[in-house]
Amino acid sequence: MSATRPASSCAPRLVALCGGVGGAKLALGLERAYGGAVSVVVNTGDDFEHLGLHVSPDIDTVLYTLGGRSDLERGWGRAGDTWQFMKALHELGGETWFQLGDRDLAMHVERTRQLRAGISLTEFTRNVAERFGIAATILPMSDERVETTVITPAGALSFQRYFVEKQCIPVVRRLEFRGAERARMSDAVAAALRNPGLDAIIVCPSNPYLSIDPILAVPGMRAALKAAEVPVIVVSPLIGGQAVKGPTAKIMAELGVPADSRALAAHYAGLIDGMVIDESDRADAAALDIPVCVAPTLMRTLEDRVRLARTCADFAMQLRDQSARAEGAGR
Ligand code: GDP
Repeated sequence: MSATRPASSCAPRLVALCGGVGGAKLALGLERAYGGAVSVVVNTGDDFEHLGLHVSPDIDTVLYTLGGRSDLERGWGRAGDTWQFMKALHELGGETWFQLGDRDLAMHVERTRQLRAGISLTEFTRNVAERFGIAATILPMSDERVETTVITPAGALSFQRYFVEKQCIPVVRRLEFRGAERARMSDAVAAALRNPGLDAIIVCPSNPYLSIDPILAVPGMRAALKAAEVPVIVVSPLIGGQAVKGPTAKIMAELGVPADSRALAAHYAGLIDGMVIDESDRADAAALDIPVCVAPTLMRTLEDRVRLARTCADFAMQLRDQSARAEGAGR
């Protein structure tokens, strides 16, 4: 980070990098706190073709969450969904390992139709966000396919086979983001990161390996984050050394790194200027050689989400002011 602009007095303009459920919690808080000043760059490494349909799980989680349509009890999919399609599919002997609710199905059918008609994923997502009344800009990381692939001792598994069908049980040896080398950052993502009014970049508390690394694997993404010259901060997805949900800590163990803030900071080394960690991990702060903000990071309620969003933005603005002062003193 090299900051020369003073902090703006209006809502900070933010870009958030986000995966699915964990990331969307903070994205919702950011959207409620700062509205249209927020752009959310979403992982599409989980996207896959299923039953002839283009499914974008993380984009849909973000759209349903920010659009007030997510099923909060189940933790995924659309609220109030029904399952007639799955029952009928089962009766026909079709593939039922990946659950598609009836309402959710409409999203995949319509997205597939529009993509085939030549509409980009970025454009489709923008239209749905508008229809759902979402103030923030939701941006797929790329319009080209990147396929997160989990390399296990028994061979390669596509992401959804690992995550949904095998329930994250296979040991992760390494991850590959197939197609990433040919993917292009969308113009909309590049513009959001190049926006001269940008104030900070916030990496949501998403799984670093499965949700954030695919975004960072898009060519030019890391360079664009650095070139933005604003603080980049990451919110730890760990609380007390455990994931709130999902395989983050399990994958860290399998990759031979401890599930703690230091390992996360090392994972993002060279990219981040600060880290927000949970109060229960306060002891980790001393071991970190970047600025740390210790705060309650468990987001149970909407108020928790908004509070953490404001904490992140305030922390980033502090880092920017400190950097501007340091630059001024060095002149
Ligand atoms: P997924 O793609 O649906 O698995 O979602 P993400 O990758 O975006 O988020 C998964 C991560 O979110 C997990 O590592 C969780 O520990 C983390 N997470 C979920 N809820 C919370 C929360 O309330 N606070 C924090 N700090 N992390 C959370």
